[in-house]
Amino acid sequence: MSDYIGVDSYKKNPTLATNQKYDAIVIGSGIGGLGTAAFMAREGKKILVLEQHYTPGGYTHVFKRRDYEWDVGIHYIGEVHREHTTLSRLFRYISDGQLEWAELGDVYDRIFFGEEEYEFWTGADNFKARMKGYFPEPEDQIAIDKYVDLIYAAQKASFTFFAEKAVPPLVAKMVGGKMRKGMMQFSNRTTMEVLKDITQNEKLIAVLVGQFGDYGLPPKQSSFVIHAMVAKHYMNGASFPVGGCMRIVETVCPVIASAGGLVLTNARVKQIMVRNKKAIGVRMEDGQEVFAPMVISSAGVINTYEHMLHPEVSNKLGLLKQLKKVAPSVAHICLYIGFKHTVEELGLQKANYWIYPKNGYDHDKNFADYLADPENTEFPVVYISFPAAKDPDWENRYPGRSTIDIITLASYDWYKEWEDNRWKKRGEEYDAFKEKMAQRLLNKMYEYLPQLKGKVDYYELSTPLSTKHFCNYQKGELYGLNHTPERFQQDFLRVHTPIKNLYLTGQDVVSAGIGGALAGGMITASAILKKNISDRVKKWDEQRKKNS
Ligand SMILES: Cc1cc2nc3c(=O)[nH]c(=O)nc-3n(C[C@H](O)[C@H](O)[C@H](O)COP(=O)(O)OP(=O)(O)OC[C@H]3O[C@@H](n4cnc5c(N)ncnc54)[C@H](O)[C@@H]3O)c2cc1C
Repeated sequence: MSDYIGVDSYKKNPTLATNQKYDAIVIGSGIGGLGTAAFMAREGKKILVLEQHYTPGGYTHVFKRRDYEWDVGIHYIGEVHREHTTLSRLFRYISDGQLEWAELGDVYDRIFFGEEEYEFWTGADNFKARMKGYFPEPEDQIAIDKYVDLIYAAQKASFTFFAEKAVPPLVAKMVGGKMRKGMMQFSNRTTMEVLKDITQNEKLIAVLVGQFGDYGLPPKQSSFVIHAMVAKHYMNGASFPVGGCMRIVETVCPVIASAGGLVLTNARVKQIMVRNKKAIGVRMEDGQEVFAPMVISSAGVINTYEHMLHPEVSNKLGLLKQLKKVAPSVAHICLYIGFKHTVEELGLQKANYWIYPKNGYDHDKNFADYLADPENTEFPVVYISFPAAKDPDWENRYPGRSTIDIITLASYDWYKEWEDNRWKKRGEEYDAFKEKMAQRLLNKMYEYLPQLKGKVDYYELSTPLSTKHFCNYQKGELYGLNHTPERFQQDFLRVHTPIKNLYLTGQDVVSAGIGGALAGGMITASAILKKNISDRVKKWDEQRKKNS
């Protein structure tokens, strides 16, 4: 038995996958997979979710060492604390109203260039007022207003673009172009191209894109639409799950189970079985075959097309050729730190730190220099998150303790030579490289939080090989596919695949981010069930409100 309702281990009992008939198999238990399964469970469908990791949740999973617990892929989520937003409703629906959020407060991000600091304030008016305070020149004031308008316009245009992803391919041929057109004017251009239209002030641009680590690409490479979606997502503040990120699994899996579904961990899918151009089930790594009327993959499009389909199938259908048009995102390293002190004792606050080199306003150059020579170049961005400060329930679960996560970008290739070695047994050279990076990140933290010197009780660095090992991203991808203009031009990144009864969901269908991946789940469930799930969620929520 697992610690979570609706979750069990395939390794302990492989017959759990075959002793029942399921309406669908979902590969991967990230928020995309769990969301799809929960939306379908709400319509009475019995779903089997297969997760290769020993714990459920994908990037929303947490892990424990000694007296500490850390989250992996959630540091803050926008929109969920505002009751009327779609994302807030979607989370209420899939968790049956059990998931609660704690707001970060007025300031959610603090951007540093050396000692210069810029705060991102909750609410568009506050955001603009703060920015105008930092950039008082009349032309900058105009640019800031234009910038916020553009963010909202691009976000608005994205609705029909992503709705088109759920439309059956034949219909998409007729109406797809029209549905995508509005957003393409924003997505076809890089963030830098769009921002250069409104300002020539490089410092202002560098500050406005100060959250570029949230999508992993500097402004000359990222599509403006991903920048706009992320900036708008946080514009009204951000939140953290009360009780930690594991509350997502704890509250969503029972909804899947309530319709007879099950989430199985330690359940690695080796192949999606296809007969006569139809998906008929999956073959597990141990060789067991599990059959179902449909298979939905939330394991990423590269994993699905390149690693889970027989090469004959993917070649014949041109899927590998399509993959050449997209690229995996950059990888990351993360230093997970534990302290035997409370948040108050350490003086930690909730807002994230984004630390850039002093006068380092050219993010693209900083990023390129670092990728070329990581050991002798300053980190192009260092992100520090304070989960213990964000979760109001933390002190109940871990009294007298605190945690911090520090993230920076990394290339998978730096670690490639150790990819065939086992976890924890990758050798002295690997450990030494890790230790060097860990010390650099700690020193960066001490620069900005000197009170933490001498107080670190535990630290552990994850590398792109950890991401591959635990989350099965082949290049340690931080955000699935790169969010370039080309990515948003690819029609094949959609729910339906050329294989009947095989569907895609999660971050590669919409975009990276918990909100993007869950929206992917909603779109996929809508397309499969041929129902407007968004509408049903809204009605359910209104009824819930009336009854309460
Ligand atoms: C370090 C980091 C920080 C982040 N911070 C934030 C943040 O603060 N806010 C935010 O909104 N977003 C954040 N994100 C992004 C967000 O976490 C992801 O975009 C989102 O969780 C992706 O969800 P998903 O379901 O599409 O994919 P995943 O969560 O990656 O789920 C895919 C699952 O498929 C499983 N799988 C793969 N292959 C197989 C197989 N063969 N058989 C069975 N299972 C398989 C994997 O193990 C994994 O569990 C962050 C991501 C990272 C990595």
